[in-house]
Amino acid sequence: MNTSQTNFHELSGSQGDHHLDLYIKALDSANSGIIITDNNQPDNPIVYCNRAFETITGYSRNEIIGHNCRFLQAQDRSQPERKLLSDCIEKGLDCKVEIRNYKKNGDLFWNELYLSPVKNPQGEITHFIGVQNDITARKKAEHDLIEEKASVEHKIQERTKELRENQIFLSSIIQTVRESLLVLDPDFRVLSANGHFLKTFKVSSEETVGKILYELGNHQWDIDLLKELLVKILPTNNPVIDFEVEHNFPHIGKKLMLLNAYRIEHDGQYKDRILLAIEDITDRREIERRKDDFLSIASHELKTPLTTIKGLVQLLQRMQEGGITEKYKATLMKVAVYVDRLNNLISELLDTSRIQSGNIELHIEPFDIDHLVKDTVDNIALTVPGYEINVSGKSGAIIRGDESQISQVVNNLVSNAIKYSPGSKKIEIHIAKVSNFVKISIRDFGMGISAQDKPRIFERFYRAGDIQKKFPGMGIGLYISHEIIANHNGTLWVESEVGEGSTFSFTLPISKK
Ligand code: ADP
Repeated sequence: MNTSQTNFHELSGSQGDHHLDLYIKALDSANSGIIITDNNQPDNPIVYCNRAFETITGYSRNEIIGHNCRFLQAQDRSQPERKLLSDCIEKGLDCKVEIRNYKKNGDLFWNELYLSPVKNPQGEITHFIGVQNDITARKKAEHDLIEEKASVEHKIQERTKELRENQIFLSSIIQTVRESLLVLDPDFRVLSANGHFLKTFKVSSEETVGKILYELGNHQWDIDLLKELLVKILPTNNPVIDFEVEHNFPHIGKKLMLLNAYRIEHDGQYKDRILLAIEDITDRREIERRKDDFLSIASHELKTPLTTIKGLVQLLQRMQEGGITEKYKATLMKVAVYVDRLNNLISELLDTSRIQSGNIELHIEPFDIDHLVKDTVDNIALTVPGYEINVSGKSGAIIRGDESQISQVVNNLVSNAIKYSPGSKKIEIHIAKVSNFVKISIRDFGMGISAQDKPRIFERFYRAGDIQKKFPGMGIGLYISHEIIANHNGTLWVESEVGEGSTFSFTLPISKK
């Protein structure tokens, strides 16, 4: 049994050699490895193998014939497929397995093995035919695919975990902020509400989440202004910032709220969701109101004794005649100056609170604006000798307004120009007619105003940080001036460069008549 050919002769009995050669050639030209084992011999040895089997395994026929197939498994004996194979052999059944085999040089190859028994007329198994294909490449591709899939799955898991963590992180931020936050779907159904909302409006999560905003708590959120914000304003004006709404809630009473709303516009799973932040400013407003009341009462109360002191000083001044010393006179003058200053400060405070409560009265009369500016400037110039204060230009216009208030504005602006120009003694005031407005500009060459301070100097009590200690003041002159000009339908603004100086300008509409 040295060559397959002899084997085959023996196997086939005395068929014609010619036919046999043909069959053998056919088998040898197959791509699959083919073997035949003899079941009647001990240990079921291989009695035939074709060329492809030699190529696949790397063994030559001489090394193959006579062996049991298991020699291909080398030491790799624990594969479950082996059990399947031996069961089929025992029961005489066809089977197909994919099994790890090893070539002569030790290389692993995956063998796709079809095994089928050959039976004699009595039904006894005489041989087995094994057809094998090297499917290593396919196995590798399969393996790579599995690995790839596992790696993708791993990445997805990681990403999902990251997303979940992000979500937890975000929701913990939302839960922590001291402002009420709601997330709504496009139909205004509440998707989530943070702890601050639940606490402020005394509701539970169950009563809130999943409900339409307007239906919450027995329709207590059915607020016209809120609807207007969400339905009319937000779709065209995203986001809506600091929208003030006052509402009387049945259980918690009247609340003043600042609403901030943002609709998510970019595509994605959160598109069209609405974030609604509700800041309860009821208490803050109340405190502001009390502060204003205090300001108004305090300045009013201060004014009364001061008026008396002023009267007494005037009385003393008139009593001077009879042999009073120069020193006494000078001291009295100083007292009068300080009393005036204090009087002005208190008047400003009073004005502030009047403006705040909308109680400022305008005594509207027509007046000559050029004349008013010059008069006011002349009066100030008297108090600051050595200053070069020039008024140029003219408008020739008549303004209808409160003359004393406009004078107060010019006074504030020129006084500031002096106060905030420690290194310069020059101030230029210009009067012009611009279209149907008068424009007054007060230019100084002093310290100037930084870009951060510029937008805020017209606020009540605002003073630029670095001047707090060096220059006295309460930060209300510009606020009052701004309000006065606004009440006269004009505008007041500033242009300034730090270190170069500032120009404050205001306009007033010219009376038609
Ligand atoms: P006050 O002078 O009492 O501080 P104002 O309301 O008149 O209050 O001015 C507000 C702030 O604006 C001042 O504190 C100062 O910082 C700034 N400011 C006003 N006028 C000038 C100016 N001409 N040059 C530089 N800074 C100015």
